[in-house]
Amino acid sequence: MVETELLKADMEGIERAAKFLQNGGLVGIPTETVYGLAANALDGKAVAKIFAAKGRPMDNPLIVHISDFSQIYHLVATVPESAKKLAKAFWPGPLTMILPKADCIPDEVSAGLPTVAIRFPSHPAAQQLITAAGLPLAAPSANLSGKPSPTTAEHVMHDLSGKIEAVIDGGPCKVGVESTVITLASNPPRLLRPGGITLEQLRSVLGEVEMDDAVLHPLKEGVRASSPGMKYKHYSPKANVIILDGNDEQYRNYVNSHIAPGVMALCYDEDCAGLKSPYLCYGAETDMSQMAHHLFDALREVDLLDAKTVYARCPAPKGVGLAVYNRLMRAAGFEVLHL
Ligand code: AMP
Ligand code: MG
Repeated sequence: MVETELLKADMEGIERAAKFLQNGGLVGIPTETVYGLAANALDGKAVAKIFAAKGRPMDNPLIVHISDFSQIYHLVATVPESAKKLAKAFWPGPLTMILPKADCIPDEVSAGLPTVAIRFPSHPAAQQLITAAGLPLAAPSANLSGKPSPTTAEHVMHDLSGKIEAVIDGGPCKVGVESTVITLASNPPRLLRPGGITLEQLRSVLGEVEMDDAVLHPLKEGVRASSPGMKYKHYSPKANVIILDGNDEQYRNYVNSHIAPGVMALCYDEDCAGLKSPYLCYGAETDMSQMAHHLFDALREVDLLDAKTVYARCPAPKGVGLAVYNRLMRAAGFEVLHL
């Protein structure tokens, strides 16, 4: 048990966090996607502590964060033209690229795979910390494994206080869902996880980009996951989340005729006036970015309110809506009721 320090995202806080990281410790860090749980990516022992603190299965690899494009050359075996094009268009930002790894990447980071995931985040505190530490930082989301990803320093404290050295408070995360993950280690490139950079944006730069089956569907029994993270239950509150698929009126009617203790609606802003049950709205129907920004906080709130059943509305799987759909479907264990 350690006393977890809550640090400000100023020079003093960054310097202190950098020291913890250089000494093999763990620090919760703000990024534009969600908060990350960082360790020195080149130190297998430090990285192993991330898995222990989160309760993360050891076969689920981590993303390595850098603060300048040139750092990628130390971490991967080759940098293809496609990686340069994507970096030019979307880095720094919420995009992770998977490439064949360099020898310096410990097995703990890549979970034994021949590839490594790399991201250059845009959050200034994340960049300053990587630069101050002088290290690439391995960082998965800073939540307990299986729980919704943290989008505030308070969420990180809730899950990991007492298990990690410090958390830097950089305010709420702008995007709110984890980075888009694309593998460049297969041909054509394939989207493994949707996020703030959309499939449409990736295709505008690279041309053909496949979408992995696991983005929209549960992994079929016996099929090997291209991204090990996709096989685990994710983002789930304790409550049973059910997605209701129908129009505005059908949604409201269904919820209003199924009111019971512990029943809540997770809805669009436009729905709330017509609902007779308790509700949480997570964004306007037409604003997927706003939904992404609020989704994980809403899923955590559902637990704080002790909800048992949550009837959720889910956007169409297009643009940033694809990322919201992918996370909410997993939170619901793919349970959809067609109205
Ligand atoms: P997290 O950092 O918690 O958002 O999780 C990182 C995600 O990237 C997980 O879904 C991992 O399975 C995936 N990932 C990381 N490295 C690789 C890799 N080398 N190949 C495929 N997927 C990866
Ligand atoms: Mg995660």
